[in-house]
Amino acid sequence: MNYICRAPGCGSRAASRFGVYCSSHKAQLRRHGAIGQRAITKADLKLYRALVVARFAKNQGTVLRSQFEAQWKALVSRAEAIIQAFKAGTPMVRFRREAAREVLKLNKGVKVADLIETVLAIYVMQDQEPRRFKNESAFRTQMVRRVRGLTPLNSDAWTDCKTGKAKRVYRDLAPRTVAVISQWLAEALGVAGLHFAKLERRDHERRQEALKNYRQALGDMQ
Ligand SMILES: [Zn+2]
Repeated sequence: MNYICRAPGCGSRAASRFGVYCSSHKAQLRRHGAIGQRAITKADLKLYRALVVARFAKNQGTVLRSQFEAQWKALVSRAEAIIQAFKAGTPMVRFRREAAREVLKLNKGVKVADLIETVLAIYVMQDQEPRRFKNESAFRTQMVRRVRGLTPLNSDAWTDCKTGKAKRVYRDLAPRTVAVISQWLAEALGVAGLHFAKLERRDHERRQEALKNYRQALGDMQ
């Protein structure tokens, strides 16, 4: 009996008797959070990050940034507490510990402003291009990928013997670890992300309205 991959239009053999997907779709699901989900790149996020930066500029002199930084710091403290509890012998599930370690790595290797802007930007992108994300799990996974992409610490560096060039391999986290990290990021910055997205939408609607009024005025000319 043949077991065929369940991804739409695939037709390859499933990776195992009990597997639902072929090996490449299995990898895609693990790496990107959903079947058919394409990677959201730094370039994809660039426009949205620019919107976020512009929004911060508009709100200069307010406590906005420091509020978000405080959210992040609270998350870092939480991660530190988890690692300390683990070292003290408290039993805990592996992916929770891994998530905590990952947060501490980010804290060490990434500027807080970059991290905050990236998280807010992906919320704005989700609002404006919802079809780029297959589902919530894909959105969360891409968020963690983009945040981890801010630091070289998360790719294992090795030297290619033939070329002598340093190469970096992106080390994937277990999906459950990704789920914990994204849950924490969403708790820390999700409300802000949704609000930034709402403000962008509102400004867009206002511009459309102004344009409509302008055209109307031209049309009404004697
Ligand atoms: Zn497949």
